[in-house]
Order: sequence, then structure tokens, then C-alpha cells
Amino acid sequence: MLRVTKYGESVLRKKGEKVTEFGAKLKKLAADMVETMHEEDGAGLAAQQVGQALELFVIDLGWHEGLNDLPYELDGRHPPLDLLMPMTFVNATVTPLKSDMVTAEEGCLSFPEIRAEVTRPDRIRCEFQDLDGVRHTLVAGDWLARVVQHEYDHTQGVLFVDRMARETLRAIDTPLKHLRKEGRKLEKAFGNPED
Ligand SMILES: [Zn+2]
Repeated sequence: MLRVTKYGESVLRKKGEKVTEFGAKLKKLAADMVETMHEEDGAGLAAQQVGQALELFVIDLGWHEGLNDLPYELDGRHPPLDLLMPMTFVNATVTPLKSDMVTAEEGCLSFPEIRAEVTRPDRIRCEFQDLDGVRHTLVAGDWLARVVQHEYDHTQGVLFVDRMARETLRAIDTPLKHLRKEGRKLEKAFGNPED
């Protein structure tokens, strides 16, 4: 299991580098990320959250009831998503599709104890590569779209607090400041993994 970096650690603010090598090293990192995500009970985990600024994230919505009924198309088909979970996204890009903006509560493994509302587009298109470098297109809505957007943001150095309304942020100001301070201490203790 890998250590999950916390708010206040600078690696979370780094835009990920493109993955160019699809070898055993990448597969091992993705497998370790999936293991860590499961241990921490998360729905997704990005490379920045394990100390590596890469365009790489994993998701697992296997717990989500009715997962296969969510609106999605993978490469123009509707395969049973629960069989594909956990999924790994390499070099992903996300484009919002014409849809409603939806507000829902989110959590993040890098912000323990904090849950708050974030408004995001309901439908997106995500182009990505799998662990073998094969390109795919996922069109997704609902919770799937939300998790993919949250994790994609991480790979761009963007955090869910950046997407929160001012009054939402104000309500969590004290725990956020506390977290950031703790995160800076952690970075000092463990070292910046990117250095
Ligand atoms: Zn997160």
C-alpha cells in the first residue's frame, strides 16, 4: 500500500507528465494504486495522490448499486461496467458535453474528513489510454462522470476545493487550513517524492 499525499503537499498541485512507457513499471504502479484505493475505501485515486505527477488515475465504482444502468458508452458500446472495474486511465483528457450542471457532495482521500458540495457538468467525454496504450473513448454521465472529472482534475494539479463555491469553502475554512498545515508537515517528514 502506498502513502496517500494530503492537501498542503506540493505534488498535488503539479500537472502530470504524459505517460510514454506502457511497461511493467506502469502496471505495477497502477496495481499499487488500486490496492491503496481499496484499502482507503476510495472511489478513485490519481498518481499525484501517491506522490507522482503523472497523467494516470484509477477508479472503482464496483460498489455503486445500479452501476451498469448509469448512462455511459465505452467505445460506442455499453459493456457491463462492474466487470471492467477497477479501471485505469492513462493520458486522459476530459471534455464536458452539453448537459446540466449538477451539485453533489464529494470527498477526497487527500482531504480526510472533509465532504462538501461541488458543481460539475453531468456529462463528459473522456479520451484515454489503457495500461497497454490502447486508446478508448468513454462518454459518461451521473456519478461516473463526476468521479472521472474529479480524478482527471488531480492529474492537472486541480483539486476539488478549486471547484467549490465561495460559501462552501467558507464553511470548511478552519478544517482546510488545519489540513494544509498538517500536509506541509507531512511533506517535510516524508520529503517531496518529486524531488
Ligand atoms: Zn481526490
